[in-house]
Amino acid sequence: MKILSVNAGSSSLKFQVYEMPEEKVLMKGTFERVGLDHAFYTIKYNGEKVIKEVPLQDHEAAVHILVEELLAYHIVEDFDEIKGVGHRVVHGGDTYASSVIINDHVLETVEALSDLAPLHNPANLTGIKAFEKAIPGVHQVACFDTAFHQTLEEERYLYAVPPEWHAEYNIRKYGFHGMSHKYVSERVNELLDKKYSNVIVCHLGNGASISAVRDGRSVDTSMGFTPNAGLVMGSRSGDIDYSMIPFLIKKTGKTIEEIDTILNKKSGMLAISGISSDFRDIESKIAEKNKQAILAHHIYVNSVVGYIAKYYVELGGADAICFTAGIGENSSHVRRMIVDRLSCLGLKLDREKNEEMRFGKEGTITKEDSSVPCFVIPTDEEVMIARDTYALLV
Ligand code: ADP
Repeated sequence: MKILSVNAGSSSLKFQVYEMPEEKVLMKGTFERVGLDHAFYTIKYNGEKVIKEVPLQDHEAAVHILVEELLAYHIVEDFDEIKGVGHRVVHGGDTYASSVIINDHVLETVEALSDLAPLHNPANLTGIKAFEKAIPGVHQVACFDTAFHQTLEEERYLYAVPPEWHAEYNIRKYGFHGMSHKYVSERVNELLDKKYSNVIVCHLGNGASISAVRDGRSVDTSMGFTPNAGLVMGSRSGDIDYSMIPFLIKKTGKTIEEIDTILNKKSGMLAISGISSDFRDIESKIAEKNKQAILAHHIYVNSVVGYIAKYYVELGGADAICFTAGIGENSSHVRRMIVDRLSCLGLKLDREKNEEMRFGKEGTITKEDSSVPCFVIPTDEEVMIARDTYALLV
């Protein structure tokens, strides 16, 4: 059974075609610069990579090419063979605690939730509508980034603000990266050979969040009402004292929108390092003993260690701490700094294993006698979408 896993962003569309339930990836690819000049797409098939530059005026044009390529590469001989298309949808609000088959009501709800995710939900919807046009009648499923964290209890998701803000405006902690946290927390249970466990998942990518997961249920997570809360990120500030905002508006004359853009796009590691929001660029400067790069790393590590410690206590101890996403999977340097800081809890890094676990490898990075084992687990949000789509449509 063939299932597509799709992630439509404002100017991109990523896809993977799976043979299910084997979870075999038959083809994957990305359409980039959709709606912009110099648009192109990349297809990976059978160990080969093809890049083509084509005009892509919108997502419909991208999906049209995608389905034609499925026929051209004989991934399918007929569109009937595509049993479902699963979409990543960023915000499901408190309406969706799991993935759902898309119908008109779901589309309306996702649209209404665009208020909470104005940059993401409309782009996700464009992807869904483009597939409906390209393969009329195809079954589609929405998989929400927020759904996994719907298990948070009131005492964790409510802010200490007037209750009518929650009642009238849906102000609460939602949490994001749900499919990644779910994938990693399930995978570590397989590695631990345990059904029930307390796990801390550190999704350290350009956007970053940490979650505390008990027996497969998210108990707490670092992102909040929006993905700007929590950890220091590539270009986002993470947690700040909100009072600096009215203060800065008065002092600088900037508008609230300008300050918001700075906190979102010009803060975080980019602002502190003065180099880049990309970790690789910053790490290359650490080798040259660049002071700002070193400072940025320390601030980053402080923020990660703070959340791990908090969740260690919230969970009453942990069976595993997992690192995933671009930085978590690849930066042995940052992992070393983090685990060394946790030595007060009895964690013991195995330096050799830590260096080994990069570029897609999965395994432990701590010594046998570490109080808590730490794992590197490459995340796979795409397969989670395919699994949920398959489960709902079979
Ligand atoms: P997102 O999906 O949020 O865009 P990713 O999970 O792809 O983010 O992570 C991107 C981050 O991972 C970037 O900061 C990048 O520099 C970092 N990264 C990727 N590879 C490495 C590496 N080998 N060493 C250090 N950092 C890396």
